[in-house]
Amino acid sequence: MPHSLHLIARPEGEPKDSDFELRPIAARELSDGEARVAVRYVSVDPAMRIWMTEQKSYWPPVGLGEVMRAGGAGEVVESKNPKLPVGTWVGGMTGVTEELITDGRGLRPFDARALPDPTWALHVFGATGFTAYFGLKEIGQAKAGETVVVSAAAGAVGSTVVQLAKAWGCRVIGIAGGPDKCAYVKDELGADGVIDYKSEKVGKALAEQCPDGIDVYFDNVGGEILDSVLKRLRLRARIVVCGGISQYNATGEMRGPANYLSLISSRARMEGFVVIDYLHRGEEAIAAMAPLVMAGKLKGKVDVIEGLANFPAALRHLLAGKNFGKQVLKV
Ligand code: NDP
Repeated sequence: MPHSLHLIARPEGEPKDSDFELRPIAARELSDGEARVAVRYVSVDPAMRIWMTEQKSYWPPVGLGEVMRAGGAGEVVESKNPKLPVGTWVGGMTGVTEELITDGRGLRPFDARALPDPTWALHVFGATGFTAYFGLKEIGQAKAGETVVVSAAAGAVGSTVVQLAKAWGCRVIGIAGGPDKCAYVKDELGADGVIDYKSEKVGKALAEQCPDGIDVYFDNVGGEILDSVLKRLRLRARIVVCGGISQYNATGEMRGPANYLSLISSRARMEGFVVIDYLHRGEEAIAAMAPLVMAGKLKGKVDVIEGLANFPAALRHLLAGKNFGKQVLKV
C-alpha cells in the first residue's frame, strides 16, 4: 500500500522525525479524467523549512495533518485521462508521497528519454534551473565582463548560477563551505575564484578577489556573508535575494543585513524574487540552457537519499549543508 508523509508538528529549530507521520493512502478507483501517478522522485528544498512554519510567505503554511508540500516527478501508471497516457512522466507539486491521483492540472508532462535521467526535471530543467536562470537574468541582469558573486555556490541553484554566469561572459567568484565543495566550484564548474566561508574571512577574501567591487551578488544564504558583500558593491550593483538558508533554522529573530546603507552610496538595488512567478516561462529557460548542457558547459549534480520515511533526514542533511548537489528523495 502506498504512503504519504504528513506534517504533524511545527519544527522548533532543526526538523525532527517526530514532526512527520507516514500514513497509508486509501485505495480508490479512478474517475473519468483522472490519472494515477507513481511519484518516483521528490525535490528536497531549503524553502520547505519556511513552509512548515506559521510565517507569512508566498504560499500559505503547510497545515498540520496535511501531506508535506514538495515538488516531484513521477510516472503515470493508470489513466482515465487521454492527455496523460500510461508511461507519461510528469513534474510539479506532487507532495511528499508515493502516489498521486490527478486530473493533470498543475503538472507538466516531460520527455524523460530526452534527459540524462528524470531527476533533471527537478534540477537544471526544473525549478532549480529556472531559479538560477531567471534570478540571474531578470533580477541580477548580469552582463558580460561584470563580476558576479554567488553563495552556496556548490549547491543546486548556486552551481547553476556559477555556470550560467560563466557562459554569459562574467567573472565569477563562488562562496562555498569546505575544500571539496570549493574545488568543485573552481575546477569543475569553472568559477574564476572561490572562497571557503568556513575557513576564510569572507570580507577579506572578497576584497582580495574582487578589488574593483561586485556588480551582481546572487544571495542564497543571507546572514554574515550578505553583510560582507554589502561592503564591496560597485556602483549600480544588483543583489538577487534568492534565499537565506543561514537563517532558516533560527529559533529567534532572523538576522537582517546590518550594512544595508551601502545601497545608498553605491546606488544599488536589492530585490527578492520567487521562481513561481517565472514557471510559465520555463520553456524559455530550457531552450537557453539545453545547448549549454549539450556542450558540456552546464552540469548537474544530484544527491539522492532513498525512501519516503527518510524525508526528515534528507531535509536535515540539506539544511546542514551536507548535500553535494541537488537534494532529491528517491521514492
Ligand atoms: P543547495 O543545494 O544550495 O543546498 C543548500 C546549501 O546551503 C548547502 O549545501 C550549504 O552549502 C549551504 N548552507 C547551509 N547552511 C549555510 C550557512 N549557514 N551559511 C552558508 N551556506 C549555508 O539548496 P538549493 O539550491 O535548493 O537552494 C539554495 C537557496 O536558494 C536556498 O536559500 C533556497 O531557499 C533558495 N531558493 C529560492 C528560490 C526562489 O524562488 N527564491 C527557489 C529555490 C531555491 P555549503 O556546504 O557550501 O555551506
